[in-house]
Amino acid sequence: MAIAQEPPTTVPQAGNVAGVSQEEWATQFAAQSGPATRLGPFESVHVFWLAGMSCDGCSIAVVGATMPSVESLLTGSLPGVPIVFLHHTALQVEAGEAFMEPMRKAVRGELGAPYVVVYEGSIADETKAAALGGYWSAIGEEDNPEHPGEMRQVPSAVWMKRLAPGAAAVVAIGTCATWGGIPAAYGNPTAAMSVQDYLGRDYRSTLGVPVVNVPGCSPVGDNFTETVAAVLLFLQGIGPLPEFDDLGRPAWLFGETVHRNCTRAGYYEEGTFAEHYGDKECLVEIGCWGPVVNCNITSRGAINHIGGCMNVGGPCIGCTMPGFPDRFAPFYKAPPGTFVSGTASKLVGSFVRPLRRVTQRYANRETRWDTTGVVSSGWGAPKTPTFVDKLIHIAYDRMRHGGTTAKNF
Ligand code: SF4
Repeated sequence: MAIAQEPPTTVPQAGNVAGVSQEEWATQFAAQSGPATRLGPFESVHVFWLAGMSCDGCSIAVVGATMPSVESLLTGSLPGVPIVFLHHTALQVEAGEAFMEPMRKAVRGELGAPYVVVYEGSIADETKAAALGGYWSAIGEEDNPEHPGEMRQVPSAVWMKRLAPGAAAVVAIGTCATWGGIPAAYGNPTAAMSVQDYLGRDYRSTLGVPVVNVPGCSPVGDNFTETVAAVLLFLQGIGPLPEFDDLGRPAWLFGETVHRNCTRAGYYEEGTFAEHYGDKECLVEIGCWGPVVNCNITSRGAINHIGGCMNVGGPCIGCTMPGFPDRFAPFYKAPPGTFVSGTASKLVGSFVRPLRRVTQRYANRETRWDTTGVVSSGWGAPKTPTFVDKLIHIAYDRMRHGGTTAKNF
């Protein structure tokens, strides 16, 4: 039987890549993907990415995300997730008024689609800068009502105040936006603060959600894109509200300490510690705060599951934590608690390590080698178990086989 086929949809060619607008781009993808990929009420969502006291490291981290990638969000290729219109000063094709107009429409409630505000960097006290006739960080300009006929720059903090009430969600990305970070460190000449300090504890988005915090300096890009995708699925009515902890962090990403999933945790447990950078052992004695820091970089890696501080030899300096940097400085000095936990690990390790070596010598041998007395490896001779090793293993094997019918070997 012939299968009826839909006539192919003719999708008009959008302008050349350099000239295509954000809207043309999204319209193309929407036409090509078809309604089946979008299971909720919204075909698209706008994301306004504002930058304050920022180094742009968060943007760099996010464009490197792979699970999901920014491209998959922009093209609507994640089932159920609406196509994202990303308004980012560095990444958006449009500039000038074409860039500003969607923000103005959002403030006026004329956007015609929900929007999310993402803030990168901390929010400085713009009144300090304004008193000197300047600004700390701004996006676009507008008529200055105090000096008719003149224009004035609009601080990104002002955009946040304007956009936040109508946002489906406000997401603070990076430690500067989540907790104040380096701009808010001791001294803090700009009176910089976090997004949640700026908006206040009573802030709720139109979805009823307080500020969502994805910390890190820079954060793991995947942590951000995954959180945004989860929030968008909630917006579509497809997924549940993701679980956030008391500090607004995605609970499934920041519930564990770095230490628990660290590739060097076995060294810590055996009480062996690096003395120099480049050593392979646990880094706690050269300044690692991993045992108390909430972060998943050791299990997730930095980009595409590769890299990540301790995985590549860098001690954790607590960059995801609200107390960073002041409560972790001076960096690269052993945290005081190390004296207690490290000494305990050394004591336990000095007992456990030799026992493990005994078992290792035993387990690294074929049974046949003991029977024939010949080790067939041409690479060298594995260590022969000592008399004490054999005695230990007679006892060990009795315990191992106790209560079973298995024969001792
Ligand atoms: Fe824990 Fe840091 Fe040592 Fe890793 S390097 S095991 S996180 S203390």
